[in-house]
This record gives sequence, structure tokens and C-alpha cells, in this order.
Amino acid sequence: MTRQEMLDSLHSQAGEWDIIIIGGGATGVGVAIDAASRGYDTLLVEAIDFGKGTSSRSTKLVHGGVRYLEQGNVSLVMEALKERGILRNNAPHLVSDLEFIVPSYEWWEAPFYGIGLKLYNILSGKYGFGASKILSREETLRRLPTINRDRLRGGVVYYDGQFDDARLLINMVTTAAEQGATLVNYCRVTGLTKDMDGFVSGIIARDEESGQIFTATGKVVVNATGPFTDSVRALADPMAQPMISPSQGVHLVFDRSFLPDDSAIMVPHTRDGRVMFAIPWHGHTLVGTTDTAIPEATIDPSPMEEEIAFILTTAGQYLRKVPSRSDVLSVYTGIRPLVRAAHSHNTAALSRDHTIHIDESGLLSIAGGKWTTYRNMAEDCVNHAATLGKLPDRECSTTRLHIHGFHSQAEKFGFLSFYGSDAPAIQALMRSEPALAQPLSTALPYVGAEVVWAARHEMARTVEDVLCRRTRALFLNSRAAIAAAPKVASLMARELGQDSGWQTKQLAEFQRIASHFSLDSAVRRV
Ligand SMILES: Cc1cc2nc3c(=O)[nH]c(=O)nc-3n(C[C@H](O)[C@H](O)[C@H](O)COP(=O)(O)OP(=O)(O)OC[C@H]3O[C@@H](n4cnc5c(N)ncnc54)[C@H](O)[C@@H]3O)c2cc1C
Repeated sequence: MTRQEMLDSLHSQAGEWDIIIIGGGATGVGVAIDAASRGYDTLLVEAIDFGKGTSSRSTKLVHGGVRYLEQGNVSLVMEALKERGILRNNAPHLVSDLEFIVPSYEWWEAPFYGIGLKLYNILSGKYGFGASKILSREETLRRLPTINRDRLRGGVVYYDGQFDDARLLINMVTTAAEQGATLVNYCRVTGLTKDMDGFVSGIIARDEESGQIFTATGKVVVNATGPFTDSVRALADPMAQPMISPSQGVHLVFDRSFLPDDSAIMVPHTRDGRVMFAIPWHGHTLVGTTDTAIPEATIDPSPMEEEIAFILTTAGQYLRKVPSRSDVLSVYTGIRPLVRAAHSHNTAALSRDHTIHIDESGLLSIAGGKWTTYRNMAEDCVNHAATLGKLPDRECSTTRLHIHGFHSQAEKFGFLSFYGSDAPAIQALMRSEPALAQPLSTALPYVGAEVVWAARHEMARTVEDVLCRRTRALFLNSRAAIAAAPKVASLMARELGQDSGWQTKQLAEFQRIASHFSLDSAVRRV
């Protein structure tokens, strides 16, 4: 899968596409997989890189959402729990079970949360991940040795799913391509074409690498641009009423010592009534998140001082070793594409259900939902798109479609397990050129062969693509990622036939992006 092959396929398309999708996050790529696997001629264009938006910045949970149960949204929880099971079946190399413990410090907490989590498990039906149960204080401490012991009474254990969001997305891009879709990154949609009746008939886009402007026509155009949904809708109708209420969420990443075992902590009620997680992820500890309404979405969002303080304070209440600013290895911020409610100012209360909206121009927008439910969202979207575009009826087949890299015993590949069935090819690269088996940094679990693999087979075009979404270096440790960047730039230049000037520009751009992941430079005040 190379970008040039994708561009060749794009420019050699003789007639119109059945479906054109704008946006290469979980929603858009999910739609591309569904549409292509039904046999529709499918084109997807992404302005920057696949997963550059919200889809690489989640809490990394494949879950039903305990909080939505509390809000009484049983159907959303049931749908998400079913999708959780389907996703684990189709991408076992990237989705795994995780044990969560709700610590209890008051007498009523264990029975109260115990009942709720039993219901959560019942709702998962045949897709269950394991029964929840109430734990004694001793059992809670055995599973969570770093939990704050002061007044601890016990806890409740339940099971949910965990994943690597950007790696799943990259494997989904390959899956869509294997099903016949054409997907191009670094192609920004700058306009929409209309037919004689004023209906959207295609896109005007700019290849961000060559600067070339091109058009593509389609029977139906799907807007899957997440937090940017309204800016694309405005291309069809500048007067369109906004449908998105953006809200940002921040995560802090610490070393493993804060959560050394394989259990996660779930705090069901923080000071602002939210859920907070502390999760072991890629040998680190990830803590979040917040829910802060923002006026508009930006592509490189930054955390606010209040959000950092809130996460540190809440984590400090539950962990024996109270984390401080100097312990933060990385901070990242994502923007929820929540669909507006007429009378709500509280984004935490807005629905996480997805919405399909068709403008008078015929532009179909799909927004909201969750990473976990992307497959179901895509099925719904393509059903609507097929009607709108008068496409022949064809059944959705994605419930059983394996995601690229599928491997049911991927743990045997050690630190390359996340590549699933691609891991042996990366191991072969390491054997053929031993320098590629060297780590990019002693603080990161990545080697040079992964950079070469990403450039050759995963359409990585920049140092950021490799350090953010093909590997997760910048999310895990911003200083170590910056230190590894020159090595990555040099390996990529060799693969992509670029010169030293390109490397210098890449490093400067990566420094700029990395500044949004470092507490020293990223934080802004409200
Ligand atoms: C803090 C946080 C934590 C979350 N945690 C979880 C979780 O643990 N589990 C879960 O299930 N869900 C979670 N979610 C929700 C989930 O991450 C999102 O619902 C999902 O990623 C949204 O994907 P998307 O494709 O709609 O948007 P995005 O991923 O933002 O994709 C939109 C894409 O459109 C592109 N684009 C924009 N304009 C244009 C244009 N003009 N031309 C071409 N392309 C364009 C952007 O570059 C971007 O890549 C979380 C969300 C947040 C914010």
C-alpha cells in the first residue's frame, strides 16, 4: 500500500465513484471498509494523515461506557458492548481484555457499583468479557498495589476492552484497500461540486504534497470529518446551521511505576461528575480524561491548565504515589465531535449516539458515536448512502470481516505483537539489516525496522506520521520522541528518496507538533 499507488488509482478512475468519503478517522475509514466490501467504488481523502484527528487521541478503550448506563442510555451501552465483542473477534492482535477495578472508600460504594457493573455484564450477553465481582480490601490491594490505602474498604472488578487506536486505524486503512477502496492521505477537500439541480456531485481537493488541484465526482459524498463536520458542510451551504458542539479531553501519561500491574482503575464519580481512568498502556500509565466545551476545533489542540491540575489532583486522591507535573512524560488532547442538543451547555450530558444528517444539498454527514461503535456507524451510514446515491442494494458483511493483521496468537511476536500477521515481515527486515533492529531510543519500545515498514507499507509520509500514529512514541514520552526524531527522519529520507533539506524541515515541523504534547510548552489558560 503506497501513496503513489493510491494516487494512480485515483487519477485513473474513468467515471464517477459510487461513494466519496471526506475524512480519514475511525468514522470515515470504517465507512470505506463497509462500502468497498459491498463492492461499491469507494474513494476516501484525508487532509493530513489517517488518524491525525480525534481517532488517535482516545482513552484507548473498546467499551460499552459504564457512564452511559448511569445516564440511562441502555441501547447505546448494549450496542457498544456488542461491537466490543465483534471488534475483539476481528482484530485480536489490537484489542484485548482488561481488568478494571472501582476502588471503594465508602460503605455504600461496593454494593452500589457492584449492582451497576453486574447489569453492565448482563447487557453484554453472549459478547461478555468476564463476570464482575466485589473484592475485599486485601484482594483490591493485591491487584492494585499502588492504590491509596487510606480508608480503602475494597472494590469491584469488571472487564472491558483496550486497544491501540491509531494502529487499529492504520490496519483498517489497509483492510479498506484490500477490499478495493482508494484511500489517499494529505489530500484536503477545499470545495464541493454541484450538479444542475444544486445537489453535491463531487469534491474539489488539493494534493498537499504536490499542490495539484483535482476534482472527483461521486453518486454520494459522505462527510466524516469529526470535529470539522461543520466546516465541510459550509462548503455546500455557507448558511448551514452548525451541528457539532466540540468538547476536548486531555490525558496525562506517566511511567509504569504508577500502575505496575495489569489492572486499570476506574473512578466512577470525579468532582465534576465524570468518569476517570488510570490504565496500563504500552508499558506506561495513562490517566484521563476531561470534558471541556471549546468554541471551535483545531487540528493540534492543547490542554488547559485547569485540565492538567484536575487530572493530577484526582489521580493523587487514588494513587499512593501522588503524581506531579515533573512525572508527566506526555500530554495529549482530543476533540469530541459531539452532536448539538438544543438546550444543553454541558457537553458531558450530550449524547454519544451517532447522527446521520443529510443537508438540502444532498451532502451526507455522519458524526458523534464512539470509536468502539465505528463498524455499526459505518453500516448505518452506507445503508443511507446507498439509498441517497441510488446504489444497488447489497448486504453489509463487516461483522465477520477480519481487520488486516488479524492473528489470534499475536503475543508470540513480543514487542511487535501489535502488527499481528505483519510482524514476521518486520522481523525479516531486522534480520536483513541488523542496524534496523536497534531501538530508536532506550525509553521507547520501537526499532528502526518499524520506521522502514511504515514508510514502505503504511503510507507514512512524515516524521510525525511515524512517531505519532505508526508507532505511539510521542504519546508515550515527548522528550524521547523528540530525541528519536533525527534517526526517524534519516531512515524515512532513505526510503522516500528525500534529501537533507527535507529532513531539516521535517524536524522543525515535528518540534512544533511535539510542543503540544509537552507540559513545558503545551498548556494554555482558559
Ligand atoms: C478525549 C477522548 C477520549 C475518547 N475515548 C474513547 C474511548 O476510549 N473509546 C471510544 O470508543 N471512543 C472514545 N472517544 C471517541 C472517539 O475517539 C471518536 O468518536 C472518534 O475517534 C471520532 O472519529 P472521527 O473519524 O469521527 O473523527 P476524527 O478522528 O477527528 O477524523 C476526522 C478526520 O477528518 C479530516 N478532515 C477534516 N477536514 C477535512 C477536509 N477538508 N478534507 C479532508 N479531510 C478532512 C481530519 O484531518 C481528521 O483526520 C474519545 C474521544 C475523545 C475526544
